[in-house]
Amino acid sequence: MARFINKTLEIIKNICFPIACCNCGDFVDSEGLCFNCWKRIEWISDPKCKICGVPFEIDLDAICPVCLRKKPNFDKAVAAFKYDDFSRNMILKFKHWDATHIAEKFGRWMYGACAADIANADVIVPVPIHFLKRLKRQYNQSELLGLELQKFSGIHYEPRILKKIKRTAPQEGLTREKRLKNVRGSFEIDENYVSLIEGKFIILVDDVLTTGSTVNECSKMLKKYNAARVVVVTIARVDS
Ligand SMILES: [Zn+2]
Ligand SMILES: [Zn+2]
Repeated sequence: MARFINKTLEIIKNICFPIACCNCGDFVDSEGLCFNCWKRIEWISDPKCKICGVPFEIDLDAICPVCLRKKPNFDKAVAAFKYDDFSRNMILKFKHWDATHIAEKFGRWMYGACAADIANADVIVPVPIHFLKRLKRQYNQSELLGLELQKFSGIHYEPRILKKIKRTAPQEGLTREKRLKNVRGSFEIDENYVSLIEGKFIILVDDVLTTGSTVNECSKMLKKYNAARVVVVTIARVDS
């Protein structure tokens, strides 16, 4: 009887307050994506590079040429899905609109992608943005994602460890070399939090991984203060 009442209330709620797909706006029966949008997401699974997580076309248990040429400062990077035209649209909504309900979905998917790693982690650290950018945008999307990961994993979350001390030009459209140069020296560690870095396993959270320059620079700082392990977790990554 209680189940029947709950179901009836749920139906009434959906009629009075219909839920929209967080991508296309179509009605859905539970929060999230409609089936059509869900189908279009390119989820990342094996085979992929053991370090940066770039998907491989063929079944290889290996390291990609980029990581072989120069090992990144982070130990591993995982992402929930590929960054393509479809997911770009969804992520842009999250970045530029008041879309905290999308953060909840993204957090759940990111947690699914990194569950094995995060279980052994000590602290979740979001990639910071410059305070002037934060004033303009009002929130840092990486912080929202980090908070969601804390919710799902129960791992300590600390957004004050890393600081963005320099304003930098947007990374979009820059070459790999220019991206590296653009972010070099733009992050700093808050020395009040070194005890949360030394010997610790850190989950570094960002929204999208492109060339990895930003997370690489953040990882460099964390490793400078003797972080034992840094695993980068993003919602999406480019597939090359
Ligand atoms: Zn949809
Ligand atoms: Zn790689």
